[in-house]
Amino acid sequence: MSQVSPTVLLTQYSQALVSSLEGQLSDGCRHQLDDLAPKAKLSALEAYKSELSAEQVDKMHRLEAAWIQWDIGLYGLCSDCEEAIECERLEADPSEQRCKACAESYAKIARTEFLLNDA
Ligand SMILES: [Zn+2]
Repeated sequence: MSQVSPTVLLTQYSQALVSSLEGQLSDGCRHQLDDLAPKAKLSALEAYKSELSAEQVDKMHRLEAAWIQWDIGLYGLCSDCEEAIECERLEADPSEQRCKACAESYAKIARTEFLLNDA
C-alpha cells in the first residue's frame, strides 16, 4: 500500500469539507470565501457557524485542531500517548486525534461518564 502524505490528506479533507460547508452557506457568504486558501477558509467559516449543523461545526473544529498540530509538527501523533497514530486511522479520518488503543480506552471512559451522569 502506498504511503499517503498527511499534507495531501489534510488538504483533500479540508477542501472536501469546505466545499460541503460552502454548499450550505448563503450566496453572500460564499462570495467572501472564494479567494481564501483552505486553511484560511476554515477560520472564515467560524464566522458562519450559526448556519452549519452541530456535526459540521464539530468536524470543522477537529480539522482546525489537526491543522494547528500540523503547524507545530505534532500532526499524526496521539493526543494521549504521543505515539504515531496508525496510518489507516488517519486515512479514514485525517483529523483523528488518538491511536487505536487510546481511542478505545477513551471511548470506554466516555461511556462510563455518560452512564454516571445519566444515573
Ligand atoms: Zn495513543
